[in-house]
Amino acid sequence: LRVLILGSGGREHALAWKLQQSSLVEHIYVCPGNGGTDSTSKVTNISLTSTGFEELVTWSVSNEINLVVPGPEQPLVDGVESHFRKVGIPVFGPSALAARMEGSKAFSKDFMARHNIPTAAFRVFSSSQVDDAIEYVRTCGHSVVLKASGLAGGKGVLIPSSVDEAVAGLKEIMVASVFGSAGDNVVVEELLVGPELSVLAFSDGYTVTPLPAAQDHKRIGEGDTGLNTGGMGAYAPAPVATPAVMEQIMRESLKPTIDGMRREGFPFVGLLFTGFMLTESGPKVLEYNVRFGDPETEALMLLLSDDTDLAAIILACVEHRLDSVSLNVRPGFAVSVILASAGYPGNYDKGKEITIGDVSSGVVVFHAGTSKTGGVVKTSGGRVIAVSAYAPTLDDALRAVYTGVDQVHFDGKVFRRDIAHRALKAGAT
Ligand code: ATP
Repeated sequence: LRVLILGSGGREHALAWKLQQSSLVEHIYVCPGNGGTDSTSKVTNISLTSTGFEELVTWSVSNEINLVVPGPEQPLVDGVESHFRKVGIPVFGPSALAARMEGSKAFSKDFMARHNIPTAAFRVFSSSQVDDAIEYVRTCGHSVVLKASGLAGGKGVLIPSSVDEAVAGLKEIMVASVFGSAGDNVVVEELLVGPELSVLAFSDGYTVTPLPAAQDHKRIGEGDTGLNTGGMGAYAPAPVATPAVMEQIMRESLKPTIDGMRREGFPFVGLLFTGFMLTESGPKVLEYNVRFGDPETEALMLLLSDDTDLAAIILACVEHRLDSVSLNVRPGFAVSVILASAGYPGNYDKGKEITIGDVSSGVVVFHAGTSKTGGVVKTSGGRVIAVSAYAPTLDDALRAVYTGVDQVHFDGKVFRRDIAHRALKAGAT
């Protein structure tokens, strides 16, 4: 296989790291990649001048690419799959129609309602219905969450603490357009309470095979305080995701989602990432993402056993025979810790030199916002590095990951020391 990975984050580095271990993979190209993705001879970064898909497809044809793995959601929502399908190159990711499950929250909520998939009660309002939306939040009788329906880079959700704040929030989204056209439709939904879970699952359109449930850490500050980020760390498996919870999630949510999408004419092929809240009345879907999560992927790739071939699994998905391959997960825990630039998620400096010492076995340093010129690696983004570790116990995985964190140096390095705190509180060791 000659694989093309699209993207430049820690997620893409983790995918390249696992894929390059496969004997099926001859070479991997990452477009555009980062300062660490191309650190083995089997991986090359490529940069193209245009942002459209035409140049990418032409390049892929002439370089005999035969599998494309998009990292982020935007190219999927923009229909990258059909561009490659036209030239016979399979994409491990959904069509534009199927990508609406992430691209439009109004669409995914209506889908869940049609298929009786447990989710928060909701109403959708278009920007001309601001008065109706205000009336609804005043009279619905429960606390609400306001969501811009379109893609807003993980920032389009407001959780108001009073009805007045909710009304002000609606005006911001619907009148002042703070989220731009992403807020043309607004989903007003019931505020749910409970621990959150990220469930990443492979699907070929028919079969759905989940990875162990992960928990992300969205806030910049320890103890889940401060501003929201792209994610400051993750670990898996989350102890709250007991076998009974995972069985319920499969039966009530994942299978009906995959079956419903196929029956409605937009089957899901790729990695479906479903965000859940474990409420008192069971697991409820918060959102769908139609691609691998970041930083969950940086942890989960280390949980796949050595005999589990990611390329074989991906190939089985695009060939609609996922039930023919085995996916084995190691017993134990994997943890990823994000090292960010000082100031993130606000303004931050770039161009700080990064040095990385030796890390012990079981620890992997994935690059995210880094770039390399003349052999020198520098910071180039908010989330700079993801240090990941696997160990048979959570305590050992945490010890290993933070030893790895200490080996990475750059000015203004910021990270959370409390990744997996919820698991520790639940008694995991
Ligand atoms: P991202 O892709 O970054 O996870 P997003 O913008 O796609 O975020 P959601 O995942 O729907 O949006 O919501 C973001 C966060 O808001 C959730 O992780 C959760 O913490 C909170 N949230 C969303 N919906 C609800 C809800 N109904 N009740 C309580 N909290 C919620």
